[in-house]
Amino acid sequence: MLIVMDHRATPDQIQRVVDAIRDMGYGAKPMPGRQRTAIGLVGNDGRVESARLSGLPGVRELIKVSKPYKQVSREWREENTMVDLGNGVALGGSEVAIIAGPCAVESRSQILEIAARVRAAGASALRGGAFKPRTSPYSFQGLGPKGLELLAEARAETGLAVVTEAVEPEGVGLVAEYADVIQIGARNMQNYPLLKRAGRSGRAVLLKRGMSATITEMLLAAEYLLSEGNPNVILCERGVRSFDPQTRNLFDLTAIPVTQSLTHLPVIADPSHGTGVRSKVTPMARAAVAAGADGLIVEVHPDPPTAMSDGAQSLYPGQFEQLVRQCEPILGAIDRSLARVAEAAPAPAGG
Ligand code: PEP
Ligand code: MN
Repeated sequence: MLIVMDHRATPDQIQRVVDAIRDMGYGAKPMPGRQRTAIGLVGNDGRVESARLSGLPGVRELIKVSKPYKQVSREWREENTMVDLGNGVALGGSEVAIIAGPCAVESRSQILEIAARVRAAGASALRGGAFKPRTSPYSFQGLGPKGLELLAEARAETGLAVVTEAVEPEGVGLVAEYADVIQIGARNMQNYPLLKRAGRSGRAVLLKRGMSATITEMLLAAEYLLSEGNPNVILCERGVRSFDPQTRNLFDLTAIPVTQSLTHLPVIADPSHGTGVRSKVTPMARAAVAAGADGLIVEVHPDPPTAMSDGAQSLYPGQFEQLVRQCEPILGAIDRSLARVAEAAPAPAGG
């Protein structure tokens, strides 16, 4: 439930509403808006005494949030949420940011080389798994803590933000020490202990759609993160299971505008896992930005045939440069632009 205050409501009146909500045993979240403040009532069990709230001075109206997900819904918050990637680039506004890098961190030279290439091409953040959730237990599982250190080194060299996955609740603390954005992968979208822990991590979270998850299920998974106090959540369409083996997944383009209409959170697209086929990544990246995606996450590898995971869908660096070049005019056509990391200030002379 949302308690919408009159635009002339005083701070004291707002506080009285907050106190009344807490007194009734619920959580209260004041949200100052451009016009007026709304106060979110968290934990509604259907037994809220509305009359006690609607009668308080300064209260304009009570709005019942009709969706099963509350804090992520557009009913709860009309304006887009902007999520800072940690290096000054934000997702959710008119700028569209690109996250790029290998599926997995494999070596120092691999990650430093690709970081420099994607940065030069226009990426704002570096992706790369240090902990990989692999379908087979015999596949490369990632470099672990060493991989996180290498990502931090690449960030220091390039200014790119770091996006990397946590695969279990116990691992979130360590990943949060290195990552700007913690990725929760498709296989873990409904791992509720992991979601709860990431919701308390203090880091932004990139939540990928489960391979057979409905949009509502994805939004409810995001609600776990917000309900733990983390407002910095990015959603990602990465394709869903289908019957046709021509592509790895069925890239659900429609999910982008549909999700954006239901939530204020930024929605990005992953045409790499969405298609699983290198030659299809750039066409679907173009389509995703045309459909309104707030960002892209793309797998790029210095030498895809030797990649330890997802080589078949990884772009060569030159192909990634072309992808960015082709997406930019599409962004211009829809009154958006490519986000770019600000140039690092030159080191002080003699310093
Ligand atoms: C990945 O980003 O490399 C990954 C494992 O993605 P997903 O969870 O979408 O399969
Ligand atoms: Mn991958």
